[in-house]
Amino acid sequence: MTVRVICDFDGTIAEKDMIAAIMRRFVPVQAEPIIQAVQTGEKAIRDGVEEMFRLIPSDRYDDVVEFATENTVVRPGFPEFIHRCGQLGWKVAVVSGGFDFFVHPVIHSLSTPVDIFCNRIDSSGPFLRVVWAVSCDDVCEGGCGLCKPSVMRQLKDDEATRFIVIGDGVTDFKAAREGDYVFARARLLELVRDQDLPASPFDTFYDIEREIADGGSPLYENI
Ligand SMILES: [Zn+2]
Repeated sequence: MTVRVICDFDGTIAEKDMIAAIMRRFVPVQAEPIIQAVQTGEKAIRDGVEEMFRLIPSDRYDDVVEFATENTVVRPGFPEFIHRCGQLGWKVAVVSGGFDFFVHPVIHSLSTPVDIFCNRIDSSGPFLRVVWAVSCDDVCEGGCGLCKPSVMRQLKDDEATRFIVIGDGVTDFKAAREGDYVFARARLLELVRDQDLPASPFDTFYDIEREIADGGSPLYENI
């Protein structure tokens, strides 16, 4: 059996949602209704994120990168959690709807190898343009932006692969439904509880580690 951990970045590894923070810093008035529409599910994530980046002129790209780098706060226990996964032989993939310029610095500071799936920005035109790393496959209903269930299907070694999904928001829900066990906080916790998916809440990565160390955890009935 292979255990794979699919871990979101924004609001999960990083304490805050960096895309929303960037928009609130650079284009607050125009972005707010788009942020709301994505969060309520009225607007597809893909469309919302593309629209918001198109509001920012490319000559501000360096400022955006600097703002994101300075404002990324990592949730406590993350390096220790990744180290623990390495000891257990669990393969971790950070699967983020966010961008290389704020995801890579955090992940590359770890000593354990981790796969990264995230997007990048094309700043060659007059306004910023999102380049999605993984689009929806035929099985997905579409609209994801970076399609987390598609990544999981790519990573599925065989029928014995078990997925632990860690996340916080609406963008993690499709992945959570495909997973065997979920660690959830914030909006994702409400969504997985509504659907009775096997899940535990977490606040820091120490909470997840504690549960991994507990042989009686429902985690082990599901993976
Ligand atoms: Zn999709």
